Amino acid sequence: MLYFDHCASTPPFDEVIQTVSEVMKLQYSNPSSIHQAGVAAEKLVTRAREVMASALQVQPNEILFTSGATESNNLAIQGAAMQKKSRGNHIITTGIEHASVYECCRLLERRGFQVTYLPVDSSGRIRITDLRAAITEQTILVSIMHVNNEVGSIQPIEAIGEVLKEYPRILFHVDGVQGLGKVPVKLHEWGVDLYSISAHKLRGPKGVGVLYCREGVQIQPLFAGGEQERGLRAGTLNVPNNVAMAKAVRMTLERQETAVTKLRELRQHLIQGIDSIPELVLNSSRNLEEGAPHVVHFSYPGMKPEVIIHKLEQHGIVASTQSACSSKDLKPSRVLLAMGCNEARASGGIRISMDAEQSIEDIVKLAEALRIIVKELKPLEKGQHR
Ligand code: PLP
Repeated sequence: MLYFDHCASTPPFDEVIQTVSEVMKLQYSNPSSIHQAGVAAEKLVTRAREVMASALQVQPNEILFTSGATESNNLAIQGAAMQKKSRGNHIITTGIEHASVYECCRLLERRGFQVTYLPVDSSGRIRITDLRAAITEQTILVSIMHVNNEVGSIQPIEAIGEVLKEYPRILFHVDGVQGLGKVPVKLHEWGVDLYSISAHKLRGPKGVGVLYCREGVQIQPLFAGGEQERGLRAGTLNVPNNVAMAKAVRMTLERQETAVTKLRELRQHLIQGIDSIPELVLNSSRNLEEGAPHVVHFSYPGMKPEVIIHKLEQHGIVASTQSACSSKDLKPSRVLLAMGCNEARASGGIRISMDAEQSIEDIVKLAEALRIIVKELKPLEKGQHR
């Protein structure tokens, strides 16, 4: 099988699988227990926290372990909104966020907050002038993703951070899930207060993530319960997954430079392949500064993407339509519509997301399969129009 769905999830490193199983077997005590076995488990979490902190170049006490980025995003956004609601009720985000940010903002709207969804240009990036214009006296939080999970657009996080340095009362949250390991991350330099990541996008286990919460930043917890994670995330820590996540992140960052060079090469080849099939339209940016190296998104306007996905499977190739969370949702992509695509194009998107261990031959096979599929489907094109 040729797996091109790395934005949805990645195969864990062998070392990650081994770590989960060893820690599960040997260190099953509760890290909050005061007996020796508990203390041993707590030591493992402390070490994992240190590794995570050094990977993100932050302090260990700024790392909060969660059940994944959906929780990290909710904790950051709802936690900041609840903490700051006496100072203001306005949140700024974009129209192309992952559902865990977008739906969280919609929920807060129903609870009386006002949300501005910044528009994006045709490459899927916000404009700094729009951000400046959206800030009001009531603004308490700006939440903007680093790399988009559908088309791979890279937001100008450094420039956003520069603007927000003029407004120290506004918290800055970044959903970093698709960016870490693919693009440079400088949380302190950019003035990021809250930053979410997920292990399973970085060859770690599922069901574990981190929220970086800068020292001094106050947020409210989502759950009532124990005092774990500075009282901000109640619940027994998932020791095997915390340790394995730290390992996956460390291994990913050690490989980042070579991985990015390789991914850029693969991406270039794939874009050439897509360009050579006139029915397909590229949605990802061609510009290396604007588009993440692991994602190529294109549409076959007028063709249901599920048909292409199933045809690709017959060639032994796995890809996806929109994001994994929205792939069963047959509506046009919210992200592509926000980028100004018409309905046919926004309904016909295919996402190819790659790993640096893949090869040019894999890309050649994918491009060839696409050429054959498009040829087969061409006569049906009209009938598939929505
Ligand atoms: N944010 C982005 C950009 C994502 O791509 C995803 C997963 O698809 C998430 C958040 C949610 O991550 P998790 O699966 O850890 O809840």
